[in-house]
Amino acid sequence: MRVYIIGAGPGDPKLLTLRAAELIGACPVVLYTGSLVPKAVIGYARADAKVLDSSGMTLDEIIGVILEAHDADQDVARVHTGDPMIFGSTAEQIRELSRLGIAWEIIPGVSSFTAAAAAVGKELTLPELSQTIILTRAEGRTSMPDSQRLEDLAKHKATLALFLSITLLKKVAHSLVPDYGEDCPVAVVYKASWPDQVIVTGTLADIDEKVRAARINSTAMILVGWVLSSSDFANSRLYDPDFTHRFRTSNSKPQKSLTQAADDGR
Ligand code: SAH
Repeated sequence: MRVYIIGAGPGDPKLLTLRAAELIGACPVVLYTGSLVPKAVIGYARADAKVLDSSGMTLDEIIGVILEAHDADQDVARVHTGDPMIFGSTAEQIRELSRLGIAWEIIPGVSSFTAAAAAVGKELTLPELSQTIILTRAEGRTSMPDSQRLEDLAKHKATLALFLSITLLKKVAHSLVPDYGEDCPVAVVYKASWPDQVIVTGTLADIDEKVRAARINSTAMILVGWVLSSSDFANSRLYDPDFTHRFRTSNSKPQKSLTQAADDGR
């Protein structure tokens, strides 16, 4: 018996990994975070599977369901939104499973921040503008560790992807203006990849008003940074004919083998 902690992706069932779909379709117990995982994803479950929504459960109740499956020697698909290791509250579940000696395995997923970038069609890392992405949230009921307040992170002027922060957008914009400037572009993507996805674009000065007008107050990713601006950026050096690297020693034909390319992440 094993618990598979599965990233279900941002919403569109086609953005499940093959492994995720396979496991959701095979496990006799499917426990999913119903607040964000759409029914369509759970549609892959076996007809006879026990499918439970964990959104109203406490940690003890979740572990209770898993213990029951353990006693019956039944695998569990524990399905989380996006990637399970980013703002997933999975660490405490994993800790409990380890304490109980229950085997677990993580299946990564497409996170909502990459789905949001895909929806707006913007690369989040651009030469000279930003080579860094900060995944964070605004301080709400969950407090931020010292030195990770938005005002501190803003000093880096990196691309920001803010989870769980849409209701705090006004405060977010206020914290970022001193370093990013009022004109800095912002994109808010509500329900990236869902059929009712909405994209609102603006600047730090007007995004709050626009998002309010669109009545978006949940399930939204906030992307901030100059990478979202027009096409005013330098080309990367990767495809520059004068820039030689391991896979291209001159501006002649590419020389890399597939294996080498994979090694280098290109
Ligand atoms: N593990 C998830 C994040 C869970 S925290 C992931 O990797 O995406 C929940 C927050 O994620 C939401 O408040 C919202 O900020 C973001 N989110 C999740 N799904 C989203 C989607 N489809 N579109 C936009 N934001 C989403």
